[in-house]
Amino acid sequence: MDKKKILIIEDEQSISDIIKFNLEKEGYITLTAYDGQAGLEKALSENPDLILLDVMLPLMDGFQVCKKVREESLVPILMLTAKEEEIDKVLGLELGADDYITKPFSMRELIARIKANIRRTDFADATRDVPSDVQTFGNLEIDMNRFEVRKSGQALELTQREFELLKYLAAAEGRVFSREQLLEEVWGYEYYGDIRTVDVTVRRLREKLEDDSSDPKYIMTKRGIGYYFRRP
Ligand code: CA
Repeated sequence: MDKKKILIIEDEQSISDIIKFNLEKEGYITLTAYDGQAGLEKALSENPDLILLDVMLPLMDGFQVCKKVREESLVPILMLTAKEEEIDKVLGLELGADDYITKPFSMRELIARIKANIRRTDFADATRDVPSDVQTFGNLEIDMNRFEVRKSGQALELTQREFELLKYLAAAEGRVFSREQLLEEVWGYEYYGDIRTVDVTVRRLREKLEDDSSDPKYIMTKRGIGYYFRRP
């Protein structure tokens, strides 16, 4: 397997160095940037497999970098957050980050998160040659094998996580899943995640899928329990 390339956008040299050291030890190729602007340029020109993105950065903060990268690319982005209020902002702004991790974190935890996020990319690549399996739900066509979704014939741009959540829910149409179940099944790690991540991803999916995201017809909330997929 090709070595994966990880872009570290972090202005604190000591943190950047220790992350770089540990990732290289794990067999990753690393690139570093020490401010937001340089980070954004490398994110767009170097085609990394994953981006580690600090929030507080000189020249351009991590929120802006995330937003701008997301306009161009679906590369997995893992935000490095220092404070609770930053986490709230990551979750609330719907920047399109795939995940976040709170400082201080252990290298073991960071590497587990990176692996979980990169596995998804591999999976997406591996499915490209697989025959399509299009299932139709009302106006929605989901190619369960190929990460493709169309609404009334229009292709939708979903991140891998959004796609996997949609696929998971749609494949078990009508069945209600708790946030914890979804985190475990779709995100694939039990201990590190925050269930709010599920809510944010549902919100983003609704904005892409639904005519009116405040009155969803596909991804439904079961109050006090969780979410389920419904054929409109
Ligand atoms: Ca910083």
